[in-house]
Amino acid sequence: MQEQAIENVVIIGSGPAGLTAAIYLARSDLNPLVITGLNPGGQLINTDLIENFPGFSSIKGTDLMMKMMAHAKELGTRFIYEAAESIDVTSVIPQGNNGKFTITIPRADPVCAQAMIIATGARHRHLNIPGESEFTNRGVSWCATCDGPMYKSKKVAVIGGGNSAVMEALFLSSFASEVTLIHRRDTLRADNVMQQKLFNKDNVRCIWNSEPSVIAGKTTVDTLYIKNRLTSDETILKVDGVFIAVGTTPTSEIVKELVVLDDEKYILATDTATSCEGIFAAGDVVSRSLKQAIYAAGHGALAAKRTEEFLGRR
Ligand code: NAP
Repeated sequence: MQEQAIENVVIIGSGPAGLTAAIYLARSDLNPLVITGLNPGGQLINTDLIENFPGFSSIKGTDLMMKMMAHAKELGTRFIYEAAESIDVTSVIPQGNNGKFTITIPRADPVCAQAMIIATGARHRHLNIPGESEFTNRGVSWCATCDGPMYKSKKVAVIGGGNSAVMEALFLSSFASEVTLIHRRDTLRADNVMQQKLFNKDNVRCIWNSEPSVIAGKTTVDTLYIKNRLTSDETILKVDGVFIAVGTTPTSEIVKELVVLDDEKYILATDTATSCEGIFAAGDVVSRSLKQAIYAAGHGALAAKRTEEFLGRR
């Protein structure tokens, strides 16, 4: 029987952290393999414009990620366009650093690796209110870039007060007749420059100190019930679409039995090293990381460096 090849390093995730790690490892001749996940390019694929990535005064999220992927590929990075299913530690020499990991992937052969970088990022948080699941893709969306153009001359609501919510509202304001941003406090968390852009839009208004309580409609969304958190008053808003942008939650399930996570399920890592020898982590899946593309990219570079050192010590 033919013995299975053992990869130097497998990277799970293909956002800025995973792809930057791949670029650095490929340049160090470590021949990385990236398991991309089901959305190659990660969260930025659904981001309209990025205006703070050095070197690009304004670039579409898709374009930036395509450039990163092409760069990694050009240097010899190999890709499996699937979501990894599980990781098993198949042999660990107790006091050594000879960890060997087997990664199971649907529709592909399992892969063995000496080291891993987990760069699985984060995914959209849900509101968990009535109507949210029922009307998903029938008026409820987490992606204005994907679905916004369907709301030309229609009324939409955006839920949230961070950079994502403000970006979604700004993007939607160029299609929709009316955008209502609903935020649970009376000040936005978003950067000031973004807030100013929002407040300058004629067709955007904000409803403060309020949270949606029910999303309703017949076949598609037509009504949003909103509750004021200070007065408990209920407002009924007639809308055709509801865009939810209330933050993210880490995609750490695949390593939850292997590495230590914090209370919110982010991976605890020191200098990208997790509690499991040979597993490194970078980007939005890591506890206390700054959720910015540039930070994820730098974090990915650091994970690559630490992985290279780990492999060199073996
Ligand atoms: P975020 O900054 O965590 O903001 C989430 C927003 O949703 C907050 O305003 C929060 O309210 C609100 N929220 C949370 N749970 C809620 C609930 N159950 N009901 C109603 N509202 C709720 O998340 P984000 O906007 O997705 O951004 C994530 C990270 O990515 C941030 O660090 C952000 O700066 C970064 N980002 C950067 C850019 C950029 O630089 N271009 C673009 C997008 C995102 P509170 O404010 O009351 O907590």
